[in-house]
Amino acid sequence: REVIFKIENLQTWFPITKGMFKKVVGHVKAVDDVSLEVYKGETLGIVGESGCGKSTFGKTAMMLERPTGGRVMFNFGGEFKDVTKFNKDEMFQFRRKVQMVFQDPYSALNPQKKIYSSFEEPLKVHGIDTLEEREEVMRKVLKMVNIQPDYLMRYPHEFSGGQRQRLCIARALEVMPEVLICDEPVSALDVSIQAQVLNLMKEIQKEMNLTYLFIAHDLSVVQYMSDRIMVMYLGRIVEVADSRALYDEPLHPYTKALLSAIPVADIHTKKKRQVLEGEVPSPIHKPDGCPFHNRCPKCMEICKTQAPNMVHHGAEGHMVACHLYDEEAVKA
Ligand code: SF4
Ligand code: MG
Repeated sequence: REVIFKIENLQTWFPITKGMFKKVVGHVKAVDDVSLEVYKGETLGIVGESGCGKSTFGKTAMMLERPTGGRVMFNFGGEFKDVTKFNKDEMFQFRRKVQMVFQDPYSALNPQKKIYSSFEEPLKVHGIDTLEEREEVMRKVLKMVNIQPDYLMRYPHEFSGGQRQRLCIARALEVMPEVLICDEPVSALDVSIQAQVLNLMKEIQKEMNLTYLFIAHDLSVVQYMSDRIMVMYLGRIVEVADSRALYDEPLHPYTKALLSAIPVADIHTKKKRQVLEGEVPSPIHKPDGCPFHNRCPKCMEICKTQAPNMVHHGAEGHMVACHLYDEEAVKA
């Protein structure tokens, strides 16, 4: 499989300052040492409770947020380049390849302007100079999301939530990106139209050979969309696996707890419900050792002092960061 993103030890920390001289007193470790490869054409689901760093990870991968450490290697026609070192021109080219779709389609479209001008702007910015060419692209992307071209003359408030999100997707497609980073793209929509938008996204993905990073807290939505899933907890990856393996054989106690909270899965598998106890600790004062140890039903002595490494376990490509699966750690 061809890799499109190689993310290495990515770190996005936000300083916490105090007083008038803005003395740095700590950091919010939103993304903390994340390494991962993303394959071309796949949908990689990203799950975890709110505040676990999913959105910051997505934004950092496309440089909307500046990382404080690590590298983001992107495949430019077979050659990997570190986008964290890009100058303005290179960044401009990179931006064209990776686009984002946000949760709230209303805020993503300027309410004062007709859709037409929101759609024309990115094309102008990216140097599509003639009106004819611009309108051709606009017609093409609108067709992909099943919206009539004459709707361009309307304002955002004249559309339903589902239509607005389809418009946002269409606008992201205008520059012919290779990757779409979707941050909770359907969670603001009525459940009745979520499936419609998700199916449309699947069709578009096939048609354009797009890679999706699909961030969501709704696990049934992620399961429906993803080829692989990464589970985040307090800024770290705790488990990555093919979607099937993750749902059938979750390894990490956190993943198990997350999955057992899905009512539908409960009915099908009659799995014992495992309720997550306690709050997510603050990403400022992370616990020592395994970040999950204060909530983990399987916590051992070693977990309180030593952070677990990522190890392979089970099916190919299944990785987990937990001492239970690290033979060397358990022996020691
Ligand atoms: Fe639980 Fe220990 Fe595994 Fe962390 S490393 S998830 S505390 S068993
Ligand atoms: Mg978020």
